Amino acid sequence: MPYQQILAAVDLGNTTETVIQRAASLAQQNQAQLHVLHVIEPLAITYGGDIPMDFSAIQEEIHGQAREQLDRLCEGIGVPESHRHLVTGRPEAEIPTQAKAVNGDLIVVGSHARWGLALLLGSTTDGVMHGADCDVLAVKVDIED
Ligand code: AMP
Repeated sequence: MPYQQILAAVDLGNTTETVIQRAASLAQQNQAQLHVLHVIEPLAITYGGDIPMDFSAIQEEIHGQAREQLDRLCEGIGVPESHRHLVTGRPEAEIPTQAKAVNGDLIVVGSHARWGLALLLGSTTDGVMHGADCDVLAVKVDIED
């Protein structure tokens, strides 16, 4: 059965192009709707919540920049505004949640070789696979930097 609602999760970094191209071509082949999601991690979480600082102005700036990048990316491949999703939280939790919210039947994420501490901590993709109710495609991405 063809996929109907595909959710591409993009970190807006160097894995984005590969993930979005694969998701877009799958959407075309399946005649599916394509949704694109970026999750902004709250600075308070990034810094462990230990620092008593008001991050709201920086957080707003990050949100604005992420919105611009997401819009540019989606305009390039014809994804309408209603299918562009920008949320705040932990990517490994928000990606499955947003997939459910759009009745997603396939999530597309990037997957790259990990080593050292990163290997011990696990990847976003591992977390998504554990949390998702639908299929998850982990697209191999080569990162050189
Ligand atoms: P990572 O394990 O952090 O290297 O990320 C693996 C993949 O998870 C990326 O290629 C994206 O598809 C997805 N991902 C990671 N971070 C985010 C994010 N903040 N928002 C949306 N997707 C993300």
